Amino acid sequence: MGKPTGFKEFARVTPSDRDPELRVLDWNEFHEHMPVEDLQSQGARCMDCGVPFCHTGDMMNRMAAGCPINNLIPEWNDLVYNGHWREALDRLHETNNFPEFTGRVCPAPCEGSCVLGINEPPVTIKNIEASIIDRGWEEGWVVPNPPESRTGKKVAVVGSGPAGLSCAAQLNSAGHEVTVYERADRIGGLLMYGIPNMKLEKPIVERRIQQMRDEGVVFVTNTEIGKDVTADQLKDDFDAVVLCTGATRPRDLPIPGRELNGIHFAMDFLHANTKSLLDSELADGDYISAKDKHVIVIGGGDTGTDCLGTSLRHGCKTLTNFEIVPRPPQHRAEDNPWPQWPRIFRVDYGHAEAAAKFGDDPREFCIQTVEFRGDENGNVKSLISQEVDWNPVTEGGPPFVPVPGTEKEYPADLVLLAMGFLGPEGTVAEQLGIGVREGRGDMTWYEAEYGKYKTNVEGVFAAGDCRRGQSLVVWAINEGREAARECDKYLMGVTELP
Ligand SMILES: Cc1cc2nc3c(=O)[nH]c(=O)nc-3n(C[C@H](O)[C@H](O)[C@H](O)COP(=O)(O)OP(=O)(O)OC[C@H]3O[C@@H](n4cnc5c(N)ncnc54)[C@H](O)[C@@H]3O)c2cc1C
Ligand code: SF4
Repeated sequence: MGKPTGFKEFARVTPSDRDPELRVLDWNEFHEHMPVEDLQSQGARCMDCGVPFCHTGDMMNRMAAGCPINNLIPEWNDLVYNGHWREALDRLHETNNFPEFTGRVCPAPCEGSCVLGINEPPVTIKNIEASIIDRGWEEGWVVPNPPESRTGKKVAVVGSGPAGLSCAAQLNSAGHEVTVYERADRIGGLLMYGIPNMKLEKPIVERRIQQMRDEGVVFVTNTEIGKDVTADQLKDDFDAVVLCTGATRPRDLPIPGRELNGIHFAMDFLHANTKSLLDSELADGDYISAKDKHVIVIGGGDTGTDCLGTSLRHGCKTLTNFEIVPRPPQHRAEDNPWPQWPRIFRVDYGHAEAAAKFGDDPREFCIQTVEFRGDENGNVKSLISQEVDWNPVTEGGPPFVPVPGTEKEYPADLVLLAMGFLGPEGTVAEQLGIGVREGRGDMTWYEAEYGKYKTNVEGVFAAGDCRRGQSLVVWAINEGREAARECDKYLMGVTELP
């Protein structure tokens, strides 16, 4: 274990973030790095508690408790405390192909389940993870490691998000010839065009893709399966196909005025911004600007927060974020005990930045939008909100009811819809005849059992958000790795992949 008395000697310390008022003036990452000695004393806080809930990743109360990829956390905490950074990196890579992504963007369910967290602040697991891999890249320890021999089997992976990338990396390591198809012009899925630069700088994504290229993975961009290449053609050309197409259908808000100009899906806003930023530092103007606008973001979560951070960097005039759900409690509720994921009030980077710029947290809870109003040119100018009450009124009735008389008009020149995603688009499933699982409303996902990933079509697998619904990078990595194992077993009869 780290230092036997470390958890008593050292308080939890996380790296400071850059000043919110200054960091909104650029698009660089908002995290700072910690000195090595501080990282080592944070590693020393790990108690090696015997039953490390932090690395179990079990589902409890519909959320992961512990790390979904079963990172060997106590082992690398100990190695960091003792200064064995290279070994810590090897342990980390055993379970995680891309710790530089999770170490930056993961909400860290591991920390919610840390045993020290029962009565003290938990170990800073996520930051230690990021520091191990950052050091690995700095020291030149992360190098291409192509397979020693090839199997002669060809696999197509459709979609290049974290599920597709981890699947491709694993299948390639098993010796298969892997081609990743991506319809966007850059590889990375939501790592590239969803999560903005200030949370995950794009050279960090690109260097990993280059490593995979050097290991033999082939990437084909600007190619949509189902349109540029039919799904049937792909199936004929490859021995197996793994669908990692994400959950790209956004939830809409069909209320009066929805057709007005200035109302956009969050992903149209975020994708165009990052593309323009990477293509021309925003000089081409090929993005939806929030400059000098009254911006309202409808919906919270990571997507809503990223819309806040991006709008602030454009220089919006005002910024409001509607959440339909109630404000979470400050501390764990009684029905949400350790080691479950703590459902508590959190201040993410976009909230902190909005508060620094405008004086207040931008969030309004228990609120829904009932109408958009426009001007004579068809541009949105305001919206009408209404409060909702979550105290259920009737057994089996709707979870919330509108509160009459609470309507309020907000000025709005730009409205961003960040209300979640309904599942993958239909074309590929239709062309291949893949079964879909149906959820509430219009939600659908590719039908494939968790742990098996086989669809009803021979040789076709599905993993990541297209199978499980909108989720997290860490779950996408988990599913991509496991789908690679199942696909390898299908191709070879046996597998050594984890
Ligand atoms: C704005 C935003 C911010 C987020 N922030 C976080 C965060 O901070 N932390 C976190 O853990 N999670 C976050 N998430 C969730 C996380 O990004 C996803 O759960 C994860 O990326 C899913 O990975 P995936 O590989 O399944 O799909 P995706 O990353 O969605 O990748 C799917 C890829 O498939 C491509 N594709 C689709 N159809 C086709 C086709 N027919 N042919 C070729 N290519 C196709 C798409 O273009 C896309 O690139 C965020 C999500 C969003 C939308
Ligand atoms: S991937 Fe996420 S849950 Fe796992 S150790 Fe890293 S931060 Fe924790």
